[in-house]
Amino acid sequence: MDNLFWIGTSGVIAVSIIVFLFGLLIGSFLNVCIYRIPLKEDIAVERSHCMKCGHVLSWYELIPLFSWIIQGGKCRACKAKISIQYPLVELGNALAWLAVLYIWGLQWVIILYCLCASCMIVISVIDERTKEINLALNIFIGVLGAVRLALDYTHWYYYLIGMFAVSIPFLIIVLISKERAMGLGDVYLMAAVGLLLGWKHVLLATVIGCVLGSIIHIIRMKISKKGSQLAFGPYLCAGIYLTILFGNPIIEWYTGILTSAIK
Ligand SMILES: [Zn+2]
Repeated sequence: MDNLFWIGTSGVIAVSIIVFLFGLLIGSFLNVCIYRIPLKEDIAVERSHCMKCGHVLSWYELIPLFSWIIQGGKCRACKAKISIQYPLVELGNALAWLAVLYIWGLQWVIILYCLCASCMIVISVIDERTKEINLALNIFIGVLGAVRLALDYTHWYYYLIGMFAVSIPFLIIVLISKERAMGLGDVYLMAAVGLLLGWKHVLLATVIGCVLGSIIHIIRMKISKKGSQLAFGPYLCAGIYLTILFGNPIIEWYTGILTSAIK
C-alpha cells in the first residue's frame, strides 16, 4: 500500500478507476479468447455477434459488464440468454488487476503480473471445459517471464532455477502416469510461471494450488456424486495468483521460522 499512497488519495482513486475500466475492457477481450481459442477461430478479425441468432452487436451492446446488466443478460434481438460467464470474466479481471495494484503499488512489475493474471483467467476457463491448456497461452506467460528476467537480470539464476523447479518434477509425473495425473500443459505452465516468479515463489504457488485443488475437488465430487477428472490448471492458477499477491510475506515468514529453528 505504501507503494501507492505517495500519489495522494485523489490520485489513488483516479488510478483505481482507470485500472478498473481498462481491466473490464481487457476482460471482454478475454471472453473472446475463451470462446474462440478452443475452436481455433481467429481472435481478432470477426465482429462480435449473438451465438444464437447471429445479431451483430453494436457499440452500446459491447460495453463490458454494463451492457449485460442493462439488457438483463439477454440478446436484444432474439432474447436468448447470454451466459453470466461474460460479465463474471470481465469483473473478475478488473478486480484481479485492482488487487495487484493495491498490493504492489505503481511499479513496472504489476504490468507483468496483471497480464499473467488475465492469461490465467483464460487458461482456467478453457482448462475447466476442455481439460487442455493451450500452448500459445503458456508461451505468452513465458514471454512475460523472459521480460522479468531481463529487467531483473542480476537475479537471473532465481528465475532460471524457477523455470525447472516444478516443471521437471511435473514432467516426471506426466511420464510415469502417462498423462493421467496431469498433462503437458501443466508442465509448460509451471515452467513459464517459474521463469516469471522465481523458484521459491513457484514452489509456494504449487503447494497452494495442490492444497486448493484437493480440498475443492473433494467437495465438488461429494456434491456431484461422480468421480470426475480433475482439471488441475484452475487450481494451479489460483495458487499462482495468490503467490503473486501474498508470496513475499509468506516466504519471509516461513524462512524466518526455519532460520530461528536452526539457531
Ligand atoms: Zn440473439
